[in-house]
Amino acid sequence: MNVEPFPTLVSIFDCTMVSKIMLGDKEAWKCSWCDGCLKPRHATRALYHLTKTPNGGIGICKGVIDPPFAARYKALLDKSQARKSARDKASASVDDYVEKRLAPTCHHDIYDMSGDIS
Ligand SMILES: [Zn+2]
Repeated sequence: MNVEPFPTLVSIFDCTMVSKIMLGDKEAWKCSWCDGCLKPRHATRALYHLTKTPNGGIGICKGVIDPPFAARYKALLDKSQARKSARDKASASVDDYVEKRLAPTCHHDIYDMSGDIS
């Protein structure tokens, strides 16, 4: 495999596969791997999308990302997470707790509604 070495990304929005766009009057960005338009234009959430990290507050990328690109995104995410404070980690675990608690309720509601059709 002859893979060209990539320059290290300073910002995720410097990547050629990521474009800054506007959705109405809102700042957003476009992922060229899955052709998705995503907002808000938030660097860490963009990285969660591109590294296919679940529970990042954004949908994960449905595209097939070339390994050299995936490695760059992962490196950038690792760097940004290393900068995070312990307080940020604490609030992230609260989010996880809420998601786990809500998920079964949601399933139950969907099941009940489909059974009510008469
Ligand atoms: Zn994507």
